[in-house]
Amino acid sequence: MSGPQREVYEVYAIKYAQHARRASENFIGGVPHDAHDGPMPLDYFVWLVREAGVEAGREIVVDTGFSKAVALRRQREHIRCPSEGLRLLNAEAAKIKDVVITHLHYDHVGNFDLFPAATFHLQDREMQYATGRHMGQPVFSGAFDVEDVVGMVRNTYAGRVRFHDGDAEIAPGVSLHFIGGHTMGLQVVRVATRRGWLVLASDASHFYANMEQIRPFPIVFNVADMVEGYARLRELADSPAHIIPGHDPLVLQRYPAPSSGLHGIVARLD
Ligand SMILES: [Zn+2]
Repeated sequence: MSGPQREVYEVYAIKYAQHARRASENFIGGVPHDAHDGPMPLDYFVWLVREAGVEAGREIVVDTGFSKAVALRRQREHIRCPSEGLRLLNAEAAKIKDVVITHLHYDHVGNFDLFPAATFHLQDREMQYATGRHMGQPVFSGAFDVEDVVGMVRNTYAGRVRFHDGDAEIAPGVSLHFIGGHTMGLQVVRVATRRGWLVLASDASHFYANMEQIRPFPIVFNVADMVEGYARLRELADSPAHIIPGHDPLVLQRYPAPSSGLHGIVARLD
C-alpha cells in the first residue's frame, strides 16, 4: 500500500446515566394509533475520540455529561461520573485539551469544570440561543441549566471557548458540522476512523428511530432544521451504520465493548 498516511481515530461511547421513558415521549405526535407505547429508555453518553496507534496521541472529548446532584434534581439515574468513565479508558479528564460541546443542554455541558485544561468548542449560535430571547420561554429553556450557561460565559471571558460559525476542522480528520434543529446551534462531530467517516450525531438524532423514520424528538427549536439534519448526517457519514445517535441504548448492543469488563458501559464505535 502506498499513499499518504492520514490520522485515524478510535471512538468510544461511554454511558454515564439512564432515564426510563415511554416511546410516545420520544416522538412529536407520540406513537401511531396501532403501535404499542412501550418503554423506550434514554441512555446518556459522553464520547472519547483518540488518535489510533500513537503513543500519547491526541484525545478529544465530546460533551461532558451531568453530575450526580443534577441527576437527583432532574430524577435521572446517575451511574458514574463521566470522568470515571473516561478513566476506564485511561483518559484523564483534567488533562484533556479539547472538548467539543455539541450544544449547551444540561446533559451535554454539565461537569465542564472537570476539564480545567480544556478549550471548549462551541457554535456561535448556541451561545446566542442560550443567552438570548428564547430562554424566557420554559419550552426552550427547560433542558438548559442556567449555571452551566453562566459557567460557559465565564469560560468565554477566560479565553477558553473556541467559537465556530458553521463547519470547522479542529484536528486532522476531526471536524465539526453545524446542524441546528434541536437547538439553535447544535453541532455534530465527524471523525476519520479505520472503517471510514463516522459521525457522532449527539442530539441531531436521539434514537436511531428518529432519523430512520423521520419522526423528530419533541425537544426542538426548529423542526424543519431537525429533519434536514437527518439528511445532513447521511451526507457526512460513510453509511447509515456510521451514524451514532446521542441517546439510544442500542448503541451498546450494536457495538462491541473494548474489553469484557466494560460490557454495558463502553462501546467501541470505530
Ligand atoms: Zn439536547
